[in-house]
Parts: sequence; C-alpha cells; structure tokens
Amino acid sequence: MPTKNDTNFDSCASFFIDNGAYQGRLIRLNDVLNTILSKHRYPRPVSAVIAECSVLGAMLSSMLKYDGLFTLQTQSNGVINMVVVDVTSSGKIRACARYDEKRLEQNQALRKTSGEIEPTPHLLGGGHLAFTVDQGPSTQLYQGIVDLQGKTLSECALRYFKQSEQIDTDLKLFLKAPEGDSQSWAAAGIMLQKMPSDGGKKTSLDEESIAENWNQAKIFMESLTEDEVFNAALSSEELLHRLFHANNLNISNTKNYSFGCRCSREKLLNTLSTFSEADINAMVENNKITATCNFCSEKYVFDKGEIMKQ
Ligand SMILES: [Zn+2]
Repeated sequence: MPTKNDTNFDSCASFFIDNGAYQGRLIRLNDVLNTILSKHRYPRPVSAVIAECSVLGAMLSSMLKYDGLFTLQTQSNGVINMVVVDVTSSGKIRACARYDEKRLEQNQALRKTSGEIEPTPHLLGGGHLAFTVDQGPSTQLYQGIVDLQGKTLSECALRYFKQSEQIDTDLKLFLKAPEGDSQSWAAAGIMLQKMPSDGGKKTSLDEESIAENWNQAKIFMESLTEDEVFNAALSSEELLHRLFHANNLNISNTKNYSFGCRCSREKLLNTLSTFSEADINAMVENNKITATCNFCSEKYVFDKGEIMKQ
C-alpha cells in the first residue's frame, strides 16, 4: 500500500460508463498546486481562486485532443481581475493572477468569517472566462468563451457547455484550503459528458435509455463527497468504482500533472523588444532591466543595449 498520497493525486483518470454512452474525468491535485502557489506570495483568497481555476483548466484541457498549449484565462472587473492557467499537452501546469490589493483588503475586512473560502465568481466579478488551444504556427487557434455568471466556478463552466458545445455535461469542483498544521492546498473535480452521437465510442444503448441513464449517472457523480475525493488512501480507480460500479465502468487511461514554466531569457527579450524606447527607459536602472516571469517569478536581467539591438 502506498504510504504517501502522491500516487493518488496530480492525475486525471479518464473513464467511460454505460457501454461508452458517457465519458468522464476525475482529477485530483495537491503537490502540483502547492508548487504553483509556492512560486507566488498570493493571499489566501487569491490562492483559492488559482487552485479552483487550475483544476478546471486541467479538466477542460483533458477533454480536448491537442498537441501544444491550453490556456484558461479570466478577465473581469472584480478584486481579482485576471487569472491565467496554462496546461500543456504533456501535463505541465502553471498559473498566475492579477488582483487589487486594496480592494482585497477591504473585501476581507467586510467578511464576517475570515477563514471561509469565498466563491470564485465573487472575487472575479463581472467579465468572461475564455480558453484557447494553441498548437503552434500554421494551425488554427481554438477558442471558447463564456460570461462569468453563476454562483460557483462550476456553474460558469457548465454555462459554457450548455451554450457553446450543446452537449449534456455535468461537473463538480472541490477545494480544500490549508487548515491547522496543514500548509497544503488540494483541489479536485469530476465531470461527466454524453458522448456526441456522431463520434466517439459506439454504444449499444438506444436514445431513450441514454437520456434516462444520464440522469442516474449524474446522481452517482454528484454523490462524490469532499471527504472521499480528498482521502489520500483512496485511489481514483477506487473512487470511480464506488460511484459507477453498476454502470459498466471502463477506465481508459490516467494522465499525470506537474508544474512547468515555459519562460526563457530569449522569450522575455523578444517581448521587451516590442516595448517603446520611452517604456524601456522607464524600466532601466543602472543601465539594466530586470524582468520577472509572472508565472514562476524567475528574474531575468538584461542590458539596455541588448534590448535596443533587437
Ligand atoms: Zn517562468
């Protein structure tokens, strides 16, 4: 028996139930999340939003076949006005957020219970959630977008599936903030989706049974509890068997996640070279410019001449 929980977390299990009529994902993150967060010094409410957006990003990207980069990005007018989560096809995740410190302090002061985690949409405010898939030059950029409406982040994501994809989908996200001696965050999500009728696996069920079984499958999915999903002693396979043992469960594969940043000196130099001379001059200190990666906080130092030469 594994004694450490890392074998059961930082992974996505893909599965089919009911003879391939529905597909699903179960994602549980802990170490990868804590590494992402350790790159920043975000206040607790911002870390919570990053954690929830990371698991949603991992989930949405796991539904797509791509070779490149998936990005989930929010733009909004709330206390946290931007969140970016990148997931590469090889499972490297990185994330960052932009927020208004003053407004966050005011917001926290107004809250009655300080330890409680505020729902993500409250902190994001009005705006949108977009995701893109970039598979490199000479390929088409795939983009999805939805208004940030709903009480929870899951509700926002479900609106996307309803409006844009029009495929019956259900999902549930879980978040666990550090408490007591535990310094670690964990997040998880489970998702079910009807297979499109014009593709995917062939099912032996007729349309009527597919509709009927869908409601039942959703109820099983919804029955997953926070205690179960964050129980490190339970493998994802065991959890799925608990939920769907009567639904002809077929776990097709598991994918692992780790932290990874794709920044480099060269990339930052290219970005800086697009700035105007006045902007560059405003950044120069002792003839040097220091640029910090938003995702991993790595610092890169350039000579002014090096940038102007580009
Ligand atoms: Zn970086």
